[in-house]
Amino acid sequence: MLLIACPYCGNRPEIEFSYGGEAHLVRAANPALLDDQTWTDFLYMRSNTKGVYAERWRHVRGCGRFFNALRDTTTDHFLAVYKTGEPRPALDGGDA
Ligand SMILES: [Zn+2]
Repeated sequence: MLLIACPYCGNRPEIEFSYGGEAHLVRAANPALLDDQTWTDFLYMRSNTKGVYAERWRHVRGCGRFFNALRDTTTDHFLAVYKTGEPRPALDGGDA
């Protein structure tokens, strides 16, 4: 069983969490001013990284809060978790 460390609750089983997609996406201040291609890219295009990836997660069956995590997509290991609004932590090895 995969354990995910909620930054508010600690280690909990994976089934308590919901994946929320790529982290650190910035929504345009006024989306109505964007052209169709830029808006489409914001809605649907993601980086699809092989390796360390910053993701949003929600502890749905726990505290209900969103948080961010760095996960290695090749190993499925969580390398770091951090609260929403905190900067992405730097990892040893310079992959931040
Ligand atoms: Zn939690």
